Amino acid sequence: MEKSAKMTRLIATDGSAFLHVCDSTAIVAEARRLHQTSKTMTAALGRALTAASLMGALLKSPKASLTLQFQCTGPAGGIVCVSDSFGNVRGYAEHPQVELPPNDQGKLDVGGALGGGTLNVIRDPGQGEPYSGLCPLVSGEIAEDIAEYFVRSEQIPTACALGVRVNRDLSVKAAGGFLLQLLPGADEQTAALLQEQVQAVGSVSARIAAGETPEQIAAAVFGAVPFEVMDEAPVAYRCRCSREKYARILATLNRKDLQSLIDDDKDVETVCNFCGKRYVFNVDELRQAMAAKNI
Ligand SMILES: [Zn+2]
Repeated sequence: MEKSAKMTRLIATDGSAFLHVCDSTAIVAEARRLHQTSKTMTAALGRALTAASLMGALLKSPKASLTLQFQCTGPAGGIVCVSDSFGNVRGYAEHPQVELPPNDQGKLDVGGALGGGTLNVIRDPGQGEPYSGLCPLVSGEIAEDIAEYFVRSEQIPTACALGVRVNRDLSVKAAGGFLLQLLPGADEQTAALLQEQVQAVGSVSARIAAGETPEQIAAAVFGAVPFEVMDEAPVAYRCRCSREKYARILATLNRKDLQSLIDDDKDVETVCNFCGKRYVFNVDELRQAMAAKNI
């Protein structure tokens, strides 16, 4: 059996910084299976899912969720990823089959697929109003865009690395990333050390492909800065859709639209964007939805 994806949360012993490391190989493999993504879009969606997972694991309340919405001018169109507060994620791309030639460094051209546009980060605390922050895309390579978002919108010094390796047969070889944030009042010397160290880490997906553990990756990020593991937990690609959820959406249609569906006298089929599951509602169910409106 394929090993599950894993989120590891660590902290510098002096409290200067914390680090999330995610081995998202199994998550990205599942995304590829569900969305039949091209090589480039496996990398794009995979990086975005990994970022959402890393950021979701920052949320405090178990009921909270985080959404990353990339609105792109490039051929990918858009990418939406949602994470719960444990780092379990789901996501989709508007054009999952878009393929581009490798970029000038010979890498999958995620920046070319996304192009310009914006990143919208929406946090839903689980109760009360969600809040969001919008930031223009810097490069469309996603990791840089996430780091820029934190610096611009939340004034938190952040380093982010994301990577997806795709095999020749289109399967996912390795995927993962990390998110390093300096905490308020971080020791200046530690901050400087970390900044220097992060540059030297290199490709996270190469490290995961080589069999490195999250602790080994963390050791590369922290370098000479002493650190501790806070916790480690499996994370997964997880869709939360259900027939009830789509029935509720159907019930929110206005009378005119609902009536025209009833007049069509055909089953209504809805497909979940995140997992591809189909939900079919027959005309009787549509009539019941209409009847419920008349109560
Ligand atoms: Zn679903």
